[in-house]
Amino acid sequence: MRKPIIVGNWKMNKTMAETEEFFKAVDDYAVSENATYGIGAPFTDLKVAVDNAKNLVVAAENCHFEDTGAFTGEVSVPMLQEIGVTHCIVGHSERRTYYAETDETVNKKIKRLLDADITPIVCIGETEAQFDAGETTEVLKKQLHGGLEGLCEKCVSKLVIAYEPIWAIGTGKSANKEIAENCCKTIREEIRAMLGDFAADSVRIQYGGSVKPENIAEYMACEDIDGALIGGASLKVDSFKAIIDATK
Ligand code: PGA
Repeated sequence: MRKPIIVGNWKMNKTMAETEEFFKAVDDYAVSENATYGIGAPFTDLKVAVDNAKNLVVAAENCHFEDTGAFTGEVSVPMLQEIGVTHCIVGHSERRTYYAETDETVNKKIKRLLDADITPIVCIGETEAQFDAGETTEVLKKQLHGGLEGLCEKCVSKLVIAYEPIWAIGTGKSANKEIAENCCKTIREEIRAMLGDFAADSVRIQYGGSVKPENIAEYMACEDIDGALIGGASLKVDSFKAIIDATK
C-alpha cells in the first residue's frame, strides 16, 4: 500500500523566525495513519525546520548534483544530508523556467539524492499551450524518460513524482480531478511500461497546482493520486492545518 504524502512548497517565502513559528504551530498536528505531511523550505530555513520537526518531513527545494566545487550559490546533497533533510524537490517548473533545469540535470540530481537516501520529489507537467494542443501525454512521457534515465526499478519505487500542470500553479485554476487522475494514471502506466509492476505500484504520485483545503479531498479520493504538492495554501498555519484535517 502506498502511503500518501502531502508536502508544502514554500518557494522563496519565510524567514527562520517564521519557520520556527510555523513548525511550533503545526508539527504536533501533522500526525496521521493515512498520510505523511511535510514542508519544502528555502535552504536558510532547513536547519530550523529540522530542529522543530518531530512529525513533519523536511524537504529542500533544490540541490546540486556535484558534491563540491566552483558552483557559486549552489547547495550540495552532502550539505543537505548533514542538516538532516529527508526529501528534496527537483525539477519544479519554476526552476525549469527561470534556472535552466533540464531533464538531464533532474536525472543527475535524482541519482545523487537516492545515493544519499534522500527522497526526490520529481516535478513534471505541461504548459498551457501544450495542454491546449493535446500534447500533455507526450510531454509527460518525455520528462519521465529523460528524468528517470538509467534508474533501476527499486530506485524508481522510492521516488515521489509530482504532476504539476504549469497552468495550474499559482493561478487558482486547478486541474479538475478527472484531468489530474488521468495524468497521474498516465505517469504510473508509463513507469509500468518502463520498469514493471513493482516500480509502478510503489511510486507515489502527487498532484500539484492550486491545491487548497476546499479541493484536496477530491484529489486524494482518486486511485492514482497519492498526495499533493502545495504552494500558496501551505504558507498559512490555518490553511495547512485545514489541509491536514481534510486528509487525516
Ligand atoms: P500552488 O503551487 O499550490 O501555489 O499552485 C504549487 C507548486 O508550485 O508546487
